[in-house]
Amino acid sequence: MPKGKNAIVTGSTSGIGLGIASAFCEAGMNVMLNGFGDAEKIESVRAGLEADHGVTVRYNSADMSKPDQIRDLAEYAKAELGQVDVVVNNAGIQHVEIIEDFPDEKWDAIISINLTAAFHLIKHTVKDMKARKWGRIINLASAHGLVASPFKSAYVASKHGVIGLTKVVGLEYAEDGITCNAICPGWVKTGLVEQQIADQARTTGISEENVIRDVMLAGQPTKEFVTVEQLAATALFLCSDGAASITGTSISVDGGWTAR
Ligand code: NAD
Repeated sequence: MPKGKNAIVTGSTSGIGLGIASAFCEAGMNVMLNGFGDAEKIESVRAGLEADHGVTVRYNSADMSKPDQIRDLAEYAKAELGQVDVVVNNAGIQHVEIIEDFPDEKWDAIISINLTAAFHLIKHTVKDMKARKWGRIINLASAHGLVASPFKSAYVASKHGVIGLTKVVGLEYAEDGITCNAICPGWVKTGLVEQQIADQARTTGISEENVIRDVMLAGQPTKEFVTVEQLAATALFLCSDGAASITGTSISVDGGWTAR
């Protein structure tokens, strides 16, 4: 079981990443937090997780769009936790705009944080996992890694890329006790989605209430947001011995969205 294992969870200062980090700590894992936010609040979360669960929790502020900072994050995690057994590539951003007006710098930022960062962090941690014959790599993709929606060119491209990367890592390390899988959530009501509700209301000219009811949850057959806790439980399962033969694939946690 994952108890005692050491994990890096990128983008874990809020939303899904924080939910996964908290569930990992509750399960007895040590965690390297990462992400942006108010320094005092992050320190209070870090110290709280340590105190509540009796595990080691550290924080590193690496900007996941910067390859050298990602390498430093991997090194810091190794130094502080001893070794890295589990990597969760979760940090992600979004921008919603029709392609003809889509800013070049937004495209570059989304591809680098949502996709390229996962390549770099895997590259800097997988060799040690291979030497120890155990590792778990979990990439937060999206239903948008499997299907598309308009106005999300960079996001959809990055998440389809993440699923491709997941397959390749799964194949390359299949004989080394390492699994690599993608989790594909449907709509989860986090900060990232609160922003999109506002953006979609702006681009489509309808109210925020109608965006939730008629746009977002219209395609999610359960008509409920997926919860952070459900995604954390999926990530924890992927770390377990029971999931040892699940690799190179994606698990949809999307309320039936991609069943259509
Ligand atoms: P969120 O905005 O609540 O959290 C994103 C996290 O990433 C934050 O901790 C933020 O500080 C961090 N981050 C952003 N840019 C960063 C950078 N350059 N370097 C380091 N950290 C950075 O979003 P969320 O909804 O929790 O999303 C988490 C992941 O789940 C993302 O990859 C997202 O694409 C994916 N996802 C979310 C949903 C959803 O509906 N919320 C659905 C499918 C997939």
